[in-house]
Amino acid sequence: MRVPGLLIVRAPFVNFHVLRDENGLYLLDCGFIGGPLLLKQALRRSGWEQEKILGIILTHGHLDHILHVSRLARETGAWIAAPRLDAAHYAGHPSYQGWSRVTGIMEKIGRPLLGFAPFTPDRWLDNGDELEIWQGLRAVHLPGHTAGHTGYYCERHRLLFCADLFASYGRLAHRPPAIFNSEEGRISASIHKALALNLDGVLPNHGDAADPRIHLSRLQKLAGETQDSA
Ligand SMILES: [Zn+2]
Repeated sequence: MRVPGLLIVRAPFVNFHVLRDENGLYLLDCGFIGGPLLLKQALRRSGWEQEKILGIILTHGHLDHILHVSRLARETGAWIAAPRLDAAHYAGHPSYQGWSRVTGIMEKIGRPLLGFAPFTPDRWLDNGDELEIWQGLRAVHLPGHTAGHTGYYCERHRLLFCADLFASYGRLAHRPPAIFNSEEGRISASIHKALALNLDGVLPNHGDAADPRIHLSRLQKLAGETQDSA
């Protein structure tokens, strides 16, 4: 599936995406350790290094997605749009319950160690909000992984940037592990909400280099298994 104006910045544990339209570039999350360097290299490889980064759109507040937001926004002047319900994460004081407290502890250690700087988004996003970029992107609230966890749907390409709705590594495709999920019980409903969209493909942040159509078939399989075990 060829998607013009899309660049996937790959890293060992978490990928993120760059979108390009006639006005410039937009980041969908900003990656984790080494993110800005990987971004620079990827932009150079695709000949986009002279284009201006206009906006940063976030899928949720986990540190491996937001570590570099402050710095990149400052360096580029880009606006930040982010799910409203993860506000405490951007401010650097998220609260975690149950198993996800493990993530809370890891992030608490990681924030100062990795140089996280808090930030306030310029625009708060809720379910159904439309972004006037890349010829239209719609926020789809997919809670469970975090309260604000949000995917972005592009009708033109029938493509959903599904963030951490699942991790897609070949036969090992799986739902996000319990220690990362703040509202585990809502994930199944979010998977079904995502699959109800008119889709040709999905792009997760944690996944191998498979085609978006393959990622979608893995998610569909996962949804089936979830239903069987329910
Ligand atoms: Zn996450």
